[in-house]
Amino acid sequence: MKEYDVVIIGGGIHGAGVLQAAAAAGHKALLIERQGLASGTSSRSSKLIHGGLRYLESGQFALVRESLRERAIHLRIAPELVALKPFYIPVYRDTRRRPWQLKLGLWMYALLGGFDGATRFGSVPKREWARLDGLKTEGLDAVIHYHDAQTNDALLTRAVVKSALGLGAELAMPARFSSATLREDGVTLTYTLAGSSVEVRARVLVNAAGPWATRVARAVEPAIAIPDVELVQGSHIAIPLRITAGIYYVESPTDGRAVFVMPWAGGSLIGTTETPYRGDPDLVQPSPSEEEYLLAVVRHYFPALSGLTRDDITERFAGLRVLPAATQAAFDRSRETLFTVDRDVRPRVLSIYGGKLTGWRAAAAHVMRRIGPSLPPAVKRAETDLLILRKPT
Ligand SMILES: Cc1cc2nc3c(=O)[nH]c(=O)nc-3n(C[C@H](O)[C@H](O)[C@H](O)COP(=O)(O)OP(=O)(O)OC[C@H]3O[C@@H](n4cnc5c(N)ncnc54)[C@H](O)[C@@H]3O)c2cc1C
Repeated sequence: MKEYDVVIIGGGIHGAGVLQAAAAAGHKALLIERQGLASGTSSRSSKLIHGGLRYLESGQFALVRESLRERAIHLRIAPELVALKPFYIPVYRDTRRRPWQLKLGLWMYALLGGFDGATRFGSVPKREWARLDGLKTEGLDAVIHYHDAQTNDALLTRAVVKSALGLGAELAMPARFSSATLREDGVTLTYTLAGSSVEVRARVLVNAAGPWATRVARAVEPAIAIPDVELVQGSHIAIPLRITAGIYYVESPTDGRAVFVMPWAGGSLIGTTETPYRGDPDLVQPSPSEEEYLLAVVRHYFPALSGLTRDDITERFAGLRVLPAATQAAFDRSRETLFTVDRDVRPRVLSIYGGKLTGWRAAAAHVMRRIGPSLPPAVKRAETDLLILRKPT
């Protein structure tokens, strides 16, 4: 039976990150992915590597600081995959967040980002509003601008796995994890590959199965604790509105939630929604009412597109956020990643719930610190904040 230090379930950004971090630390690591890399949430995000300006409103300062640090690292190590973009927040007479509130928020954003060049912000002078892709100017008081970064989430995930494989890590794909049994010094686990059942041993099993993480955790014997989490659906639509100036961050005219309108594949991508989801994670897809909600945003802010209908949608996808179960709206809940272990001393199973695309490297570093005592000594091969990520071909 093959033996590994770390076996990871799930080839999304978190699984990719842990694979890379484990290999960089000199460990023997295997990633098991049942479909394709980034076939889950990690290809259905808003594709932003960002500090998360709106998390300031819910007081998540540590998350914003860490995310801004990760943004700076991405811009350095992945210039082929992550680019800084201008962001525009139009403020109309009836917009909830006023210019002074936004500027205060952006000042804090700059402070948490260490006032590096990417945190500069200001207002777009009125004489330049005409270059903003046909943005509605009626009732417009101000346009605040700042910067954040955009990526291709699926390509980023593949690039991280490629980097890990270059450090000696292994990938089993398509391969489906089926079950795991805890032993005193690790885990024996089974997965199916090309119709055959394969059994391997690991010192630590890392459950990075995203919205499927509770399913994976339930397949561990004897049973391990599973936190109370909920799935919240977020949908995006693509339309043929060619956007060149940057990314618009607007309030939904329906309920005031923040929605992004971003340049994407020669057109634009609009997202996202927040709808509680109780079904099978494999079957998630945008609902007609979510599509109408997003179209209403475009019609409201881009008058030339007031006739836009669902027939104009060129692409649609939905992903699932894993959030701690709570009573408040999904929008206001903590976006901190939740890590759980089967036992505090020398854990054998670590599960990752929730998190951000932006925070994958920091999450992986946290995982390695947490599982370090369970792993044999190893010779470090690399530092993940110095490994250059190349666009996969
Ligand atoms: C709508 C939306 C927008 C978002 N926008 C942003 C954003 O702009 N910026 C940002 O920083 N974050 C964003 N996020 C968060 C970010 O996308 C997620 O935190 C991240 O992609 C989660 O990655 P993951 O690896 O945990 O899960 P996933 O990407 O879902 O990966 C889990 C993987 O596990 C595999 N798997 C499941 N079961 C098994 C099994 N039995 N055997 C083998 N493999 C299995 C699946 O096939 C899948 O590939 C967004 C999230 C959503 C939902």
